[in-house]
Amino acid sequence: MDNNTSLQSSILVIGGGAAGILAAITASRRAGKQGGRCAVTLLERNTQIGAKISISGGGKCNITHSGAPDELLEKGFLRKNEQRFLRSALYNFSNTDLLDLLQHQGVPAEERPDGKVFPVSGSSLSVVRAFGQLLKESSIQIHFSCRVNSIRKQGNVFHVRTDEETFTANTVIIATGGVSYSRTGTTGDGISIARKFGHTIIDPAPALAPVYTVKPFPAELSGLSFRNVSFIASSGKRTLSRRGDVLFTHRGFSGPAVLSLSRDIAELSTETKEVFLFADFFPEQTSAELEKFLLEQAKKNGSQTVRKFLQTSPIAPPAGSISSVTAGTIPTAIVPYIMRNAGLDSDVSWAGLSREKRQSLLGLLKRFPLGKVRDVPLDQGEISAGGVSLSEVNPKTMQSRIVPGLFLCGELLDYAGEIGGFNLQAAFSTGWTAGHNAAKLTYPAQE
Ligand SMILES: Cc1cc2nc3c(=O)[nH]c(=O)nc-3n(C[C@H](O)[C@H](O)[C@H](O)COP(=O)(O)OP(=O)(O)OC[C@H]3O[C@@H](n4cnc5c(N)ncnc54)[C@H](O)[C@@H]3O)c2cc1C
Repeated sequence: MDNNTSLQSSILVIGGGAAGILAAITASRRAGKQGGRCAVTLLERNTQIGAKISISGGGKCNITHSGAPDELLEKGFLRKNEQRFLRSALYNFSNTDLLDLLQHQGVPAEERPDGKVFPVSGSSLSVVRAFGQLLKESSIQIHFSCRVNSIRKQGNVFHVRTDEETFTANTVIIATGGVSYSRTGTTGDGISIARKFGHTIIDPAPALAPVYTVKPFPAELSGLSFRNVSFIASSGKRTLSRRGDVLFTHRGFSGPAVLSLSRDIAELSTETKEVFLFADFFPEQTSAELEKFLLEQAKKNGSQTVRKFLQTSPIAPPAGSISSVTAGTIPTAIVPYIMRNAGLDSDVSWAGLSREKRQSLLGLLKRFPLGKVRDVPLDQGEISAGGVSLSEVNPKTMQSRIVPGLFLCGELLDYAGEIGGFNLQAAFSTGWTAGHNAAKLTYPAQE
């Protein structure tokens, strides 16, 4: 049964996150006002826009990444099909376009040495406020606390149902996000709606998520980090690794290397329940080079205890310069674990170390066991992978290849970016592309 109120709109955008905001602004700018009534309507289930922008980058909002679009794709999206899909959108609306738009709204941004870009204000709220102002200036009608339950298409008209009303529109843009951090409103509604329209859905999966282990290290190690090591996950048959910092948590591990590898670990965990984690403290040295280094230490300083050496040993030294401390040293708190795992007495000196024990220490330094994976929690991911299959969406327009007039953008699509501002940029770029082309389809006369 239809609800009693029916509200007409030309272009309806569902979801007021990064993608939906840009889609609405762009569509409205392009379409302009038609006969005095507002052409673009935005429906958002929360009481305000940009819930995820607000919490992004720890409240500081890593809004994008510097570099040309191709560099962004290369660094930010590790899968080739994602790079191919996002290319047009990133050229349509690049990081420079985004920063110009914000600068124009009085929100300048600055680049950090690692390429991450943040608003100078240091606050994500300045970004949300700027977009709120832009939506207002674009005369977009926004309905808050308005959750879309279903959409059907009759002839050329979409009927979009919420708890209270039915909206009709010629063109619909779904920008309801992924499925992680569901408390921000992202419960996968748009993905279910797309499935009902016949779209293939790749099962949502965790990405940029912490990894929980069966037996976490004692709580007092929580907060400890390994700098720039190689973080390894292995099922025996398949081994994956990522370079970067690893942070100990109460339940397992987090930090850049862990977040980056989490999507692959989650996939590996669906193949086998036996996935084990390791850290390589000397990723740029072969076992032979490391052994040579240990032998030199033993020769130079036979009376030194191995424990003392480990406490001051570099972690992840550069290739060709094994003794230089650039990323820091092996954390003192982890040294007893290395010693115990290698079967060494706590006061053993280099001179007292048998060849067998040296080999054991060497093995530990190249592959320190971090435990067995218990879970990669989907809801804890900064993003979710999976969603609407990219092959069914036109990358040049974001229009569905299955349902004419239906556009899909943002995280509900089956891509997942790395940490560094890539995910917001992808949402803004695909949102811009959807908005621009939805308006082009709805108002062809303006071409
Ligand atoms: C803690 C955290 C930190 C992050 N930090 C960064 C960062 O610093 N840099 C970066 O690039 N990325 C970051 N991300 C990822 C980034 O925020 C997202 O990838 C991006 O916001 C996705 O944009 P989107 O518009 O596709 O979806 P979302 O921003 O999730 O927006 C979807 C919107 O749709 C609404 N909605 C959902 N269902 C309905 C419905 N049925 N009816 C109406 N409305 C609905 C939701 O309420 C929500 O407002 C972070 C994510 C998290 C969780």
